[in-house]
Amino acid sequence: METFDYVIVGAGSAGCVLANRLSEDPSVSICVLEAGPRDWHPYIHLPAGFIKTFHMRSINWAYQQEVGPWTGGRSIYAPRGKTLGGSSSINGHIFNRGQRQDFDTWAQLGNRGWGYPDVLPYFKRLERRIGEGDDQYRGREGSLTVTTMDWKDPLCEAFMAGAISLGIPPNPDYNGAIQEGVSYAQRTIKNGLRVSAAKAFLHPARKRGNVHVRTHAHATQIILEGKRAVGVRYIKGGRNGTPVEVRAAKEVILSGGSYNSPQLLQLSGIGSPELLRSHGIEVHHALPGVGEGLQDHYAPRTVARVKNIKTINQLRQGWHLWVEALKWAITRRGLLSLSPTMVYCFWHSGETTESSDLQMTFTPASYKEGVQGQLEDEPGMTVASWQQRPESRGYVRIRSADPFEPPIIQTNYLVAELDRRVVVAGMKLARRLLKSEPLAPYYDYEDFPGPNVQSDDEFLDAATRRGTTTFHPGCTCRMGPADSTWAVVDDHLRVHGLQGLRVIDASIMPRMISANLNASTLMIADKASDLIRGKSFG
Ligand SMILES: Cc1cc2nc3c(=O)[nH]c(=O)nc-3n(C[C@H](O)[C@H](O)[C@H](O)COP(=O)(O)OP(=O)(O)OC[C@H]3O[C@@H](n4cnc5c(N)ncnc54)[C@H](O)[C@@H]3O)c2cc1C
Repeated sequence: METFDYVIVGAGSAGCVLANRLSEDPSVSICVLEAGPRDWHPYIHLPAGFIKTFHMRSINWAYQQEVGPWTGGRSIYAPRGKTLGGSSSINGHIFNRGQRQDFDTWAQLGNRGWGYPDVLPYFKRLERRIGEGDDQYRGREGSLTVTTMDWKDPLCEAFMAGAISLGIPPNPDYNGAIQEGVSYAQRTIKNGLRVSAAKAFLHPARKRGNVHVRTHAHATQIILEGKRAVGVRYIKGGRNGTPVEVRAAKEVILSGGSYNSPQLLQLSGIGSPELLRSHGIEVHHALPGVGEGLQDHYAPRTVARVKNIKTINQLRQGWHLWVEALKWAITRRGLLSLSPTMVYCFWHSGETTESSDLQMTFTPASYKEGVQGQLEDEPGMTVASWQQRPESRGYVRIRSADPFEPPIIQTNYLVAELDRRVVVAGMKLARRLLKSEPLAPYYDYEDFPGPNVQSDDEFLDAATRRGTTTFHPGCTCRMGPADSTWAVVDDHLRVHGLQGLRVIDASIMPRMISANLNASTLMIADKASDLIRGKSFG
């Protein structure tokens, strides 16, 4: 059996950063197990390829969530990256860190070293910001290029003018001192190509020679000796493939993401004893918080039909697409360099809300059934609106002892009364934004939820019929003190009560943050790499 110092399960956002930082020491050996293939597919790298990878099962786990109490009887689709780079290889490229208060709250929950002043140096260390930003907050020398959307579409310009006309200020850098305001989106795009975590961190690290990446390697169990994790069992090449074991001389690190990390813990006998026994799994370590506490952002998309201008819906049809393809090939700009959302707007649902609790995104395009996978044919524009810090919590639980069976994902969207209120406020604001004076030359009529929807109850009903995930699951292996029943890892991300085992990915967030999760997941991994090495920084 082969032995490495560290075995990392999952080459996603977190796993790639960890492999990079830990391999800086040439005497250390690292094995990265990734269930998916290499990230060779061209659609991964082409920004507009997002719409294709969204459903591409060869590089996407393509999960379905359980029907929730407030999802109108619908099971919501939950894509997840399954390739080098993980979800950062199929995501919408948006770079958004969140607010100071998000991380201060993590610290207040008993997690030492996770307040905003502690995490800011890691956000800075990661990035190579090209564009606006105060260097007190922004990094200029990291590996992850962050640029600002450079496609100046008249509809985007009118949307921003409309936001300003409603009193929402322009903000040149929502990753700086204050998040609130409106601006073009910041993206992990360089020269018209995606900068995934694999591109920024894993591929450069592989050149060092001490990082061993195994693709098509589906981890099925953590090998435990007593209370110590000593290795990982995986199947090479899918369900009927070859079983293999690798040993970790120092540590096993789970970076499988918010759905798969708790699933692997449960499959390995770590979790709620009742759940494990109900599937005939021997309990190695009782830890009831595993898989519990799932949070996500839930977004209804308000759509208006557009007149007097072409939207992306038309620009990707017929000869237009050929022109755009040529433009991208020559200049790396144009339609194919775009992200699914272009303008970002952060605002508050009520006058007494302390910091922005609504995130609104604008796109001069519209999608069938409001789901981002398929564009509509007629001209449209969309405002997605979501509550930044929902209170509703759900869970991830194994469906059976079969490691190839998808877990049960129940997010419980909108179960908390506050969440319903804020989501309705977001939809009302979306309507006002689309109806603002600067957009009037282009605004034809509201297609969804439609003019008949007026009361709060009607907005809520529309939200339950058409809301979707914004792909930000977190909080299923929460970081917290040992005496809290919900905590899975301590503030060094070590699994409570076990040795040689950490979870390092989006699942460790104790509470949902006011942002898309890629930036903070990269930060978590970067900070964790120093915790593992006993280093401090900043
Ligand atoms: C469609 C989509 C759009 C998004 N858009 C944005 C955006 O614009 N901006 C943003 O900030 N965030 C966005 N996100 C979210 C963000 O990308 C994720 O939150 C982040 O990448 C999560 O990182 P992670 O390391 O926790 O997990 P992941 O990056 O998902 O990595 C987990 C890795 O582990 C592997 N794995 C899982 N189980 C096993 C196993 N048993 N054995 C071996 N390997 C395994 C997976 O295949 C995967 O490669 C989006 C996500 C999606 C899916």
